[in-house]
Amino acid sequence: MVSKQLLERQAARESNARTYARSLNLALVKGQGLKVTDADGKEYYDCLAAAGTLALGHNHPVVKEAIKQALDADLPMQTLDLTSPVKDAFVEEIFSTLPPAFAARARIQFCGPTGADANEAAIKLVKTASSRQGMMAFHGGYHGMTLGTLSVSGNLGPKTEIGGLVPGVQFMPYPTSYRSPFGIGGELGHQLCSRYLESLLEDPESGVHVAGLVAELVQGEGGVHPAPDEWTREIRRITKAHNLPMIIDEVQTGAGRTGAMWAVDHSGIMPDVMVMSKAIGGGLPLSVIVYDQDLDQWQAGAHAGTFRGNQLAMASGLATLRYIRAHDLPAHATKMGEKLRAGLTSLQSDYPWLGDVRGRGLMVGVEIVDPSQSAGLLGEYPNDSKRAKRLRAECLARGLILELGGRHSSVVRFLPPLIITEQDIEAVLQRFGDAAKAANQMQD
Ligand code: PMP
Repeated sequence: MVSKQLLERQAARESNARTYARSLNLALVKGQGLKVTDADGKEYYDCLAAAGTLALGHNHPVVKEAIKQALDADLPMQTLDLTSPVKDAFVEEIFSTLPPAFAARARIQFCGPTGADANEAAIKLVKTASSRQGMMAFHGGYHGMTLGTLSVSGNLGPKTEIGGLVPGVQFMPYPTSYRSPFGIGGELGHQLCSRYLESLLEDPESGVHVAGLVAELVQGEGGVHPAPDEWTREIRRITKAHNLPMIIDEVQTGAGRTGAMWAVDHSGIMPDVMVMSKAIGGGLPLSVIVYDQDLDQWQAGAHAGTFRGNQLAMASGLATLRYIRAHDLPAHATKMGEKLRAGLTSLQSDYPWLGDVRGRGLMVGVEIVDPSQSAGLLGEYPNDSKRAKRLRAECLARGLILELGGRHSSVVRFLPPLIITEQDIEAVLQRFGDAAKAANQMQD
């Protein structure tokens, strides 16, 4: 079947809630490394990579080999939470990637294989340990689509239609620089964010009583906002002083994506809980939380789930993590990310609507703005979601898959596989530049 037929059948039968399938009109038949091919034989650079999941791209030889070996060995297909040699090796590998002081005191819980389920587990863990109930979370944060994780996520879109969210969530300002919540950027901007958070915990009349704090260190879905390391260290100091468990959601930032194995490595902090999914399964579904042993106060069955024992995912995840470390892909991600950002930044003089280029490692975003409007306090312009959509479509037409995120879906996001080469970056920039030229001619 060609793409048109497949897409028509999909549109006729699949849910109204489908997401990527609406904006990226693709029926894919093949994937290899950074490239995918659709049912009409057209090739694309896949800078979405299953929302940042495919650290080694599609069908990397080491991942294929690990899966083949697992199949040939007739490993049990699912083991619930029983142990096995593959699981043991996977846990060993995860622990050896952690900050050593954290690993020395760590416990691991395998979760239902999504990032959302792992965040649910993390929230339940800290609530149980602290005997408190509320949570601190951040404006722009994204932790999943279950009721619990939606409750600690910022985006109102998927929340406003449904009641019954988990109460007691206190949303805090996140230290974004281009659009500072206080209209003050730079160091003072992030100091205000952390100072405000501290004041709420110090003030017996703040009305805030929480069991823990959950944060991303580079907000992904919220629009690619890297938190300054000083802010992260400050939040760690404050949460420690107030005995407030700090959950770092590494679902998207983990496994080398930001130019360090884990995003916590940049600031050198030791969190209380790390939430991992996406890349740790090497492309197959897997998620875990790793946490300090003092929090291990929940009882048997406190967080169960059928699909916690996927041996194929552990085998492909193990191979992926080993490859990332052996080839120092975090360092490569830093280099490639810099090259990508430099290329994007150089386009800003031609296209002033490329308002801000930012990111860390290979988590990169370009915020699309409307410079014909009046600027805000920091010189930032209002978002232009129309042009962002047009740009995404022009990229797609030129064989480049990119998604939008952030406020008003106006941040073009790059989440390519970490194995991307310099030549690939050049090809991606070439296509992006051509697409920007086309989107520049847009009539309002
Ligand atoms: N946390 C973060 C930071 C994420 O980026 C995502 C997914 N984009 C999730 C949690 C949810 O993961 P999943 O879609 O696997 O439930």
